[in-house]
Amino acid sequence: MNLIPEPLAFELSSPGRVGVSLPTCDVPVTAVPASLRRAELKLPELDELTVVRHFTRLSQKNFSIDTHFYPLGSCTMKYNPKANEVAAAQPGWKGAHPLVSDDRNQGAIELIYRLQESLKAIGGFAGVSVQPAAGAHGELAGVFMIRAYHLAHGNPGRVKMLIPDSAHGTNPASCTMAGLTTVTIPSDAEGGVDLDALKAACDDTVAGIMITNPSTIGLFERNIEKIAKMIHDAGGLVYGDGANMNALTGVLRPADVGIDVMHFNLHKTFSTPHGGGGPGVGMVGAAPVLAEYLPGPIAVEKNGKFSMEMPAKGIGRMKAFNGNFGVLVRAYTYIRMLGEEGMRRLAESAVLNANYIKVKMEKVYPVKYPRRCMHEFVAMGNFVDGIHTLDIAKRMIDYGYHPPTIYFPLIVPEALMVEPTETESKETLDAFIDVMLKIAEEAKTQPELLHDAPHNTPIGRLDEVAAARNPMLCYRS
Ligand SMILES: *Cc1c(COP(=O)(O)O)cnc(C)c1O
Repeated sequence: MNLIPEPLAFELSSPGRVGVSLPTCDVPVTAVPASLRRAELKLPELDELTVVRHFTRLSQKNFSIDTHFYPLGSCTMKYNPKANEVAAAQPGWKGAHPLVSDDRNQGAIELIYRLQESLKAIGGFAGVSVQPAAGAHGELAGVFMIRAYHLAHGNPGRVKMLIPDSAHGTNPASCTMAGLTTVTIPSDAEGGVDLDALKAACDDTVAGIMITNPSTIGLFERNIEKIAKMIHDAGGLVYGDGANMNALTGVLRPADVGIDVMHFNLHKTFSTPHGGGGPGVGMVGAAPVLAEYLPGPIAVEKNGKFSMEMPAKGIGRMKAFNGNFGVLVRAYTYIRMLGEEGMRRLAESAVLNANYIKVKMEKVYPVKYPRRCMHEFVAMGNFVDGIHTLDIAKRMIDYGYHPPTIYFPLIVPEALMVEPTETESKETLDAFIDVMLKIAEEAKTQPELLHDAPHNTPIGRLDEVAAARNPMLCYRS
């Protein structure tokens, strides 16, 4: 509820009104060069209170994990503990200059080193790099590594990446950006990779497979070891998309089932804030076969001294300096708070919560692959004539829930992809389930309520394609 009344007008400027008093200038006053000046720079003139109310009001229009449940499938919108923020705001971390020498940056490099060691243990990898700034960026790094490996082994013709149709959309995009061609492998009736189709695609042009496990339908790929062996036998390498490691931490180490290279999304599994394009980290881990190709620099320890070093055959840098360092501090804090035991409980709770909602929802919302799910599941929103998943998603906004991911993955019609994460209480899950069942009832008895939703937001339904293609970033339009 918005307790602060809306002002009648958006333009609140009033000539001569001032909200700041600047200290006396202690350097010579110089005019801004005319070339740097816009002809008519009309700065608003406002008092402090009006400014505070304006921004507070705007902030209350935001949807956030700190205010509401956010079951956005595949995005892992879990709670970001405040202790992470306290750690990242320590003056020693916050004020560290990126150009300071390794000698004077020992603490920061040690933190990177320890985080690397933690993720090596969680993934079972021989090496990891903190360079990539996001999951997709980590994928790009991994595909470059696979390509570098094949080139180093005299196989320039290995240019084909096999991608199951249950993969995340970034997978084919990353391969294409890296200059490889992609071949889609269909799913079988159970939602796993169709092994016959995979076998048929394995030839000497295969660079590898890029496999999302758990897949975007929220299912664990039970044949993962068989698949890895088929690819390895064909001379390829296995890229595992580990963005959604919160189904597996402490339970399964991806390297143990044949994954050669994988990215972790610190901004999903390890609780650092994301959304709005804000900084992330797609740390990439590698098995021995690919570890020397990792992007650098990587933190290394010798006789108690820490330094940042480039791997011998590494693909180079993916990011300036030491990547998004503040995110690394947050993720490291989270891992240390939970410990080894906590890592396992994290995964168990994520999977339990998703299955709890799935079992209660699937009586009404059909689930295409009704197997036990991992950290998320994909239901369908087309169980009443004339109602679409979009209508259900929009109606959820009226009840104070961020809609789940919709119309993705593409292999499930009218997809509604729910990921509760492990940080929500049973009460929150129950309240959510009640609302979903209530909306299903409304779909049958009062469909117009859904067609016209949302009813309580400042604006209703947008033309989402036009909004993304031609954004209006200024209120003056
Ligand atoms: C989120 C996600 C990605 C992409 O990660 P970004 O940080 O958004 O680039 C890739 N794969 C899967 C399975 C994901 O869930």
